Amino acid sequence: MSEGRPIQIIKSAGDDFELNEDVLEKILSNDDISDHSIVVISVAGAFRKGKSFLLGFFIRFLEAMYVKKDASNWIGNRNDEAPLEGFSWTNGQERETTGIWMWSEIFQGEIKGEKIAIVLLDTQGVFDNKTSTKNCSLIFGLSTLLSSVQIYNLSGHIQEDDIQHLELFTSYGKLALDDTGNKPFQQLLFLIRDWSYPYNHEYGLVGGNRMITKYLQTSEHQNEELKSIREHLQECFTKIDCFLMPHPGLKVLNNKNFDGQLKDISDDFLNNLDSLARMILSPDRLIIKEVNGEKVSVKELFQFMRIYLETLKGDEFPEPKSIFEATAEVNLMNIFTSNLFGKTEKLSAKEFSLRHGALKNEILKQFDDRRKIGDPQNSLKYREQLISYLDKLCQIHSRINNNKNEMALVQLECTRWSLIAE
Ligand code: GDP
Ligand code: MG
Repeated sequence: MSEGRPIQIIKSAGDDFELNEDVLEKILSNDDISDHSIVVISVAGAFRKGKSFLLGFFIRFLEAMYVKKDASNWIGNRNDEAPLEGFSWTNGQERETTGIWMWSEIFQGEIKGEKIAIVLLDTQGVFDNKTSTKNCSLIFGLSTLLSSVQIYNLSGHIQEDDIQHLELFTSYGKLALDDTGNKPFQQLLFLIRDWSYPYNHEYGLVGGNRMITKYLQTSEHQNEELKSIREHLQECFTKIDCFLMPHPGLKVLNNKNFDGQLKDISDDFLNNLDSLARMILSPDRLIIKEVNGEKVSVKELFQFMRIYLETLKGDEFPEPKSIFEATAEVNLMNIFTSNLFGKTEKLSAKEFSLRHGALKNEILKQFDDRRKIGDPQNSLKYREQLISYLDKLCQIHSRINNNKNEMALVQLECTRWSLIAE
């Protein structure tokens, strides 16, 4: 049995965040492993959705595979009466706090002769009001930045809200990284628990991937916002997968004293759990953490944690809400830019200013149409911002129109970038 325990490594304290540096340093600077390449598997999502339960099984698999070196019967016998060990996951015992936990035992393995270390993270929080949305986005963004596989644990099915939250926390990630052209994140795995439509899409990866591909498809007729969120996700992650998990059976839910005994869990659940664990944790399937295309070692991960936390937590850092709004504004700007400057012919000054005026009105109209709901005070602020940006863009465009000056194009990019960062 694993000798590890869950340690809260990042705590949300009111509006702020704390990194449990002492404990982390002790674990991650252990000489035996500090130079190993690291694999970081995170399970993220709301409370009470079976994350810890799942992680308990992941620990059992890792024990069998990397400590006992035999995972042939890792789940155990179905009539086994041993309780499941691992993250404290039993009913009512876990406090509903936002934060990131790490399993203190780091598993060691080898991929093609290269020594690796495997770390498990449990990331939790809910997006139920303004403060918690900001906190959660930060925490989820942070764990997405730190992990090579982010498992987004959802109950029942994917809703548009879940995708929007993902968009919020990936925005943080994008900002925290240099713009080197590498995708900021590695694998995202939607894990849908209690999937109840196996006749539409079968349990497991095949059904899941068919479902998610359909869900994330963009089309010309789609609403701009839905479309841009989907495009953004595809830009952010190297790989997006989905796994459909069956219900574990009523005994898991109804029995207060349930402690993870296998005889109480449905066969369907256990079979899919076996595939899932092998798919993510088998030696030939592990994904090493990379930042900007470079493999990360255990001790470097610790450094990254510190840097990311510093970058993300400062007061000046924008609320995800405003990043989200700004991103939406950037979409409008892109329409503006492509319409005004999509043409290759040079326009006369008069034509240019006519076209600019018409477009500006069109964009503001779109903005006003979208702003009917929401805080009017904020709307006004964003409207003024938008006007000033449109005017700034127009000046740059006008310069580009006069001579196709590359500097102006660069400047245009910077303006867009500063808009996102503002
Ligand atoms: P966490 O808060 O997300 O870590 O959730 P837990 O792992 O602590 O599980 C919360 C409750 O959900 C426990 O009573 C588990 O027995 C139960 N549970 C675990 N896995 C599943 C699942 O796949 N489906 C359902 N419906 N319940 C589950
Ligand atoms: Mg938990």
